[in-house]
Amino acid sequence: MYAGLTHTPCCLCGREDAATRIEVPPRALGLMENGDPISWRDVVGTVSLGFCESDWELVRDLVLDLGTHPLSRCNAAHVSLDLRADHEALFTATKEATDQTELEARRAERARETLAAAANESGSPEERALVEALVTLRALAELGVLDTADDIGSGTDANPAE
Ligand SMILES: [Zn+2]
Repeated sequence: MYAGLTHTPCCLCGREDAATRIEVPPRALGLMENGDPISWRDVVGTVSLGFCESDWELVRDLVLDLGTHPLSRCNAAHVSLDLRADHEALFTATKEATDQTELEARRAERARETLAAAANESGSPEERALVEALVTLRALAELGVLDTADDIGSGTDANPAE
């Protein structure tokens, strides 16, 4: 069930090859188009979203300029993820959900570090990392995992020098 990381389509248009990728916690699947049938608790690791060059422009506008995230426009059928082996699910009578909270806490912490680095003149995280950080925090806030933190309400504070 591994979709592979190299030749996956853009999760916005589904046509072009993905040129830029960001990773989000599996729970974010719930915010995506067609995300409902995927059991996010069974995903191992993060979910990788690819965007083609032209859609990446849209994504960075949404995230960095408009203070939102692109997940509702992403097709979950086009993301890359790693599901727990099916046989494991079969043989586990009382199937326990993978605890996602640790991964979410780790991703959130890393995202905050990226934002802190962006706010600091001396640090300049790459734009991709900044977008990933903001999408991660906004998605987790929207899903009720994080309190809606004031530092993610708008992308303006975290804009890279342009
Ligand atoms: Zn595209």
